[in-house]
Amino acid sequence: MLPRGLSKSKIMAGLQCPKRLWLQTHRRDLMQDDNQQAYAAGNELGEAARRLYPEGQLIEHVFDIPKALAETQAALAEKPQAPLFEAAFQHEGVVVRVDLLFSEEDGLRLVEVKSTTSVKPLHITDSAIQAWVMENAGYQVKRVELAHVNNSFVYQGDGDYMGLLTHANITEAVSEIKPKVNGWASSFKTLLAGEMPDIASGEQCHKPYDCPFDGFCNKDQAEYPLTLLSYSRKFLEPLSAEGITDIRNVPEAMLTTDKQRRIWTATVTGKPVLDKKIAGELAKLPYPRYYLDFETVGYVVPIWKGTRPYQSLPYQWSCHLETAPGTLTHMEYLDVDGTQPPMRPFAESLVEKMGSDGPIFVYSSYEAGVIKELIEMYPDLAKRLEKIVGRLVDLLPLAQKHYYHPAMKGSWSIKAVLPTIAEGAADLDYKKLDEVQNGLLAQEAYLEIIRPDTSKERRDDLTRKLLDYCKLDTLAMVRLVEYFQSQD
Ligand code: SF4
Repeated sequence: MLPRGLSKSKIMAGLQCPKRLWLQTHRRDLMQDDNQQAYAAGNELGEAARRLYPEGQLIEHVFDIPKALAETQAALAEKPQAPLFEAAFQHEGVVVRVDLLFSEEDGLRLVEVKSTTSVKPLHITDSAIQAWVMENAGYQVKRVELAHVNNSFVYQGDGDYMGLLTHANITEAVSEIKPKVNGWASSFKTLLAGEMPDIASGEQCHKPYDCPFDGFCNKDQAEYPLTLLSYSRKFLEPLSAEGITDIRNVPEAMLTTDKQRRIWTATVTGKPVLDKKIAGELAKLPYPRYYLDFETVGYVVPIWKGTRPYQSLPYQWSCHLETAPGTLTHMEYLDVDGTQPPMRPFAESLVEKMGSDGPIFVYSSYEAGVIKELIEMYPDLAKRLEKIVGRLVDLLPLAQKHYYHPAMKGSWSIKAVLPTIAEGAADLDYKKLDEVQNGLLAQEAYLEIIRPDTSKERRDDLTRKLLDYCKLDTLAMVRLVEYFQSQD
């Protein structure tokens, strides 16, 4: 029986914050919002990496560690030439699973697969824990590699993913960190045997990852916490030393940027701050006006020929067209075919429907980036797409520069701004949308729609929900411009 508690991911949690490790071990019920999307990307990539070595052997038994350890030992003894996937090792109660393990003439080559596009310092720490356990379990690790996503890889089809991963040699960097692992492991074991450590919230709650216990640790935090103004220690520490936790108690002299002053003024007075210049800037723009929003999907392991990992692939747009003040019609496009890449028909429908003149409002620089990718992909549509880019008017920087309401709590996302300008407007309530209420849920819905085993009823239902969601995003922009202009 292995002692309760440590694994590589738990040591990593402890390095972020000892309290997080304690909570993760003893109070998992308090955990919220674990990053499921990142896990899904990691799993998808791990499977793709394994497909590159069809002769390899997968060590299963995710929850039966003694069996996984025994199977790894046997595999290494019997078939040292075949790569192992998820090989298990243990030392002093610390268990690790190795993504890819190769037996080579002079020792073992350990490969950690990560869904990032470069090597990060925490990957070195992560791999050092693996190597420390393996070496102490009696295996000789000669080389450590980090296989990360090569974002210039272009999928050529037929399941050929050679080149998707870039292998970086991190052996030396790992050797420098390895001597520290013993100390971490023993101090964390002592920590886990005791009471929950008393650690105040701080920068570590969001670095290097958002901590899933933020809701628990900060349930009693101030209504308007200082982090709405800045996460910088230089800003926060002198205020905390004075016992100040709420924006409303921050002396004005401590504010250093216009953004901080806007947030502070609105929060202290309890009233929105709106610079009327925004009305003048918007009033200059002619009709017809377009309000445009895209939905996209990205795959860490590309499924469509000619696409790259994480490329934003558009499949849906919504557009409200305002031909004269208050005169609106709606247009939309959604490709749910799934057997063919959606980008070309998407681009064609866009150039066909966006007319030839008039501002096109968007609420982020995202749409411009997606259209620029389409220009690269479809040179025959380039001129018409470039014209669309030239007409885009991004409302987000305008809102950030000219508007803040205390209820926005530091966010200028359209979903944070909208309730402050259209309180109680029934047609603008994202919560009424049921299943698809944000971009992430929209992606999930799209992926479910294009899955061959999804029933027709379910596809139709999700299709309607996707259309409703995207339509609301562009209606929100119409209302935002209306509101800003009405404040002249
Ligand atoms: S929320 Fe912050 S203080 Fe609480 S466990 Fe997480 S990192 Fe530690």
